[in-house]
Amino acid sequence: MTTATDHAVHVRDKIYIDGEWVQSTGTGVLEVINSTTEQVMGSIPEGTVEDVDKAVAAARSAFESWSQTSIEERADWMQRIAEALGARMDEIAELIAQEVGMPVKLANLIQAGLPTATFGSMPKVMAELPWEEELGNSLIVREPVGVVGAITPWNYPLHQIAAKVAPALAAGCTVVLKPSQVAPLNAVLLADVLDELGLPAGVFNLVTGRGSVIGEALALHPDVDMISFTGSTAAGRRVSEAAAGTIKRVALELGGKSPNVILEDADLQQAIRDGVSKCFLNSGQTCSALTRMLVPRSRLAEAEQIAATVAEHFKPGDPFEPGTTLGPLVSEGQRKQVRDYIRKGTDEGAKLLTGGVEPPEGLERGYFVRPTVFSEVTPEMTIAQEEIFGPVLAIMPYEDENDAVRIANDTVYGLAGGVWSGDQEHAKQVALRIRTGQVEINGGAFNPLAPFGGYKQSGYGRELGRFGLEEFLQVKSLQL
Ligand code: NAD
Repeated sequence: MTTATDHAVHVRDKIYIDGEWVQSTGTGVLEVINSTTEQVMGSIPEGTVEDVDKAVAAARSAFESWSQTSIEERADWMQRIAEALGARMDEIAELIAQEVGMPVKLANLIQAGLPTATFGSMPKVMAELPWEEELGNSLIVREPVGVVGAITPWNYPLHQIAAKVAPALAAGCTVVLKPSQVAPLNAVLLADVLDELGLPAGVFNLVTGRGSVIGEALALHPDVDMISFTGSTAAGRRVSEAAAGTIKRVALELGGKSPNVILEDADLQQAIRDGVSKCFLNSGQTCSALTRMLVPRSRLAEAEQIAATVAEHFKPGDPFEPGTTLGPLVSEGQRKQVRDYIRKGTDEGAKLLTGGVEPPEGLERGYFVRPTVFSEVTPEMTIAQEEIFGPVLAIMPYEDENDAVRIANDTVYGLAGGVWSGDQEHAKQVALRIRTGQVEINGGAFNPLAPFGGYKQSGYGRELGRFGLEEFLQVKSLQL
């Protein structure tokens, strides 16, 4: 059996610019930590502003020809990239299971499966898009935005990269990618794949390093036409300020505090089982996690009992052990943040049903946190308002449906949500009152072609499918 300790150390000492692996102009190195063993599992160059300048120049120069390639040619590239990623799914899953800590079987499905599917979805999406249309005496054409700076986080690292790089390249844009320094090795693997396939030089460039240096330089750069950012609301705000100086287009996919509204007539068992799992997916490190479970006060006791039982069934452990259903958190910092929130929940008067700040039994090494459920959480509590990004569920009782909708909308975020009811039409009516970019009804499955993105401070812009492709296009009208 493979365990998290059995893996090779990945030392990558180059960045990818203009179709070649080159040395950074700096000498800094950033270590990558295995979240289960707390050991160094690899390293990457700490890129510099000069590296960004070179990468942007390469992307700018490549844009001239890449933007003129035919839709069919780019669709063919998307298909080839999907196939190449598909052939390396196990490797991708194992890498991300070590970097992030998601159980490897699930990582195969999600962390490796989704990015492969995103590239694979592009040919059909491209074929269906009206690239040209007539409007009176005008011909409306859709053209690529230009050079795209893509800045991505660590929680679904390759998925978030693919959600930007695939549609950007499909649109005819060229890209400089700055992946999270916490989980960057999967981005290096993608660059390997594109290099081996022989993607034209400069179309895709990778500069690793810190957000405050590389991300900031991309956002400020006069030759970058668009920044597509996924990450925290604080960093997104900064990126948007930096980008304003050169009037760049900006797309922001930020945090969330998503409500799961369980209505009076819902199947409580099914709703809570599904809701707890959605909250704990990837150890709660999911921007669209349903972290606030709203239940009718009349059914609170029943709901508490079911939620605690479901949570206690989660088995924390090594992501490579077959029985593990909950991996560690990504880092020491993340674990500290989550434990602080658990303490705050108790201090502010929430009722701890299960879990807590102590590490799970027998797991003193690795950034593990117990699956934790609070009840009697009220909207003014910190754990009802702030993104915890750990396996911590807040059960919030409500009095009636209007109260439920009010609580659901009572945060600065607006990324996702859920509604459960025995009557689908009733659930839909409630879903339409929730101010978030997506709402799943009775556990409706994630649709990788549906637009994904936020309302309010969860950001703007949409990813995936047709809407994701349109994000990287601009329209021109020719008057005939
Ligand atoms: P983060 O904001 O710290 O980092 C995200 C990326 O931005 C990293 O590559 C980082 O290096 C870079 N960055 C940091 N500061 C920057 C700056 N000043 N200028 C430019 N770039 C900068 O977030 P994280 O810790 O990597 O990820 C977790 C956060 O991301 C959570 O808040 C989560 O909700 C959010 N998230 C949102 C979505 C979504 O689609 N809405 C998806 C995943 C994660």
